[in-house]
Amino acid sequence: MKKTINICWLRRDLRLDDNAALYHALKSKNPVLILFIFDKNILADLPKNDARVTFIFEKLTQLKSKLQSKHSDILIEYGTPEKIWPKILKDYDLKEVYTNHDYEPYAKDRDDAVAEFLTSEQIPFKTYKDQVIFERGEILKADGTPYTVFTPYYKQWQAKLEEFYYKAYPTKKYFKNLFQTTRLSMPTLKDMGFEKSELEFPKLSYENKLDDYGKQRDFPAVDGTTHIGLHLRFGTLSIRKAVADATEVKSNVWLSELAWREFYMMILWHFPYAGFDSFKKQYDKIKWRNDEQEFKAWREGKTGYPLVDAGMRQLNETGWMHNRVRMVVASFLSKHLLIDWRWGEAYFAEKLLDYEMASNVGGWQWAAGSGNDAAPYFRVFNPELQAKRFDPKFEYVKKWVPEFGTKKYAQPIVEHTFARERVLKVFKEALNS
Ligand code: FAD
Repeated sequence: MKKTINICWLRRDLRLDDNAALYHALKSKNPVLILFIFDKNILADLPKNDARVTFIFEKLTQLKSKLQSKHSDILIEYGTPEKIWPKILKDYDLKEVYTNHDYEPYAKDRDDAVAEFLTSEQIPFKTYKDQVIFERGEILKADGTPYTVFTPYYKQWQAKLEEFYYKAYPTKKYFKNLFQTTRLSMPTLKDMGFEKSELEFPKLSYENKLDDYGKQRDFPAVDGTTHIGLHLRFGTLSIRKAVADATEVKSNVWLSELAWREFYMMILWHFPYAGFDSFKKQYDKIKWRNDEQEFKAWREGKTGYPLVDAGMRQLNETGWMHNRVRMVVASFLSKHLLIDWRWGEAYFAEKLLDYEMASNVGGWQWAAGSGNDAAPYFRVFNPELQAKRFDPKFEYVKKWVPEFGTKKYAQPIVEHTFARERVLKVFKEALNS
């Protein structure tokens, strides 16, 4: 006979503690089976050694053993959601499905389709806010439209922030309602066509960074930021815990960075076209040069601009790049080399462990000038001055570009003053056309 269950479907919330959907599922009437789907629609586009797939795999393995110690398990499927859900219905007497909101364009379409299918089977699809403090419709202008500028958005975000919004969901109290089962099998990385990545994942330990964050965060030679991006991306850290910690030590600058993350998510939800096209449409008239050789030099960290090269090599070797340097390399690609920001955005999407579509597109459009709250197009970062200011002793540069200062180091791929005049001319033409 089929077992009666409710399902809690994990996606980018790979934790058992402080999880909104899991909390509500566990409080429901039926035993809760936790589900994760390795989604072929997403995996198909990833390189075989994608480190994020290894990260997810390792976290699921840990969740599995935690659940098994409670005589439960996690059901891990490999396929497309549209094929997996009918299969689950064949195996179980499924009463309700619980999951957390996901705001990216693909996720929205996927969830709409699953909701439609389940509803047609009389199974409620219950969804919750979990990955943000305030979601799409909670911080709006007086006229009900979304903010497109961060400062007034953040003013309202801060004014609304009360403990209620960042209190943890006490899931542990209800673990007795986990579905009791014998062990379930799990696909291996190899089964799914992936290899284990050897990249090191940032540890989830950031509390000692918060006091000095405001002073240190801009200097790439100092390890002054928290590296929690990957953990927020896959939910191995709850945003409520991060905000509670920021509030406790009054780390206001860090708190505002957490709000930037939500700001960009809100922008992508309300303006999904900006995930692919320029937010300011006029910027799609820019005549990019898109030189393949120069793009290659940028990717490999061989532009002859030390801060740019150090950043790209840090990204290639570790899957992470310092925020100040992300701004510099993005500006350099889109403005100095006049290469379409989408090329750079796609490269970051492939390489960053903490890749988040909303923040990545937001960061790139900010640098290119086409974004909702972007630097004005005529402000062209001078990569040499940026290096002098933020890495005055070349410590960061020397770490990643050992040949810097020797004859082996590349000559600048383009001269700064020339590149600046060229981009101003090309952008002006597009914006005035
Ligand atoms: P910390 O400085 O310790 O900040 C804590 C968290 O706050 C971050 O993990 C992140 O979740 C959030 N945060 C911080 N700064 C920003 C910001 N400017 N915008 C949005 N959220 C922020 N961030 C991503 O999470 N994913 C991306 O794909 C991404 N792509 C970027 C691309 C470009 C071109 C630029 C300029 C920035 C990008 N950022 C992205 C924002 C920022 O660079 C990273 O969040 C940050 O460097 C991650 O390091 P950390 O975890 O040590 O952050």
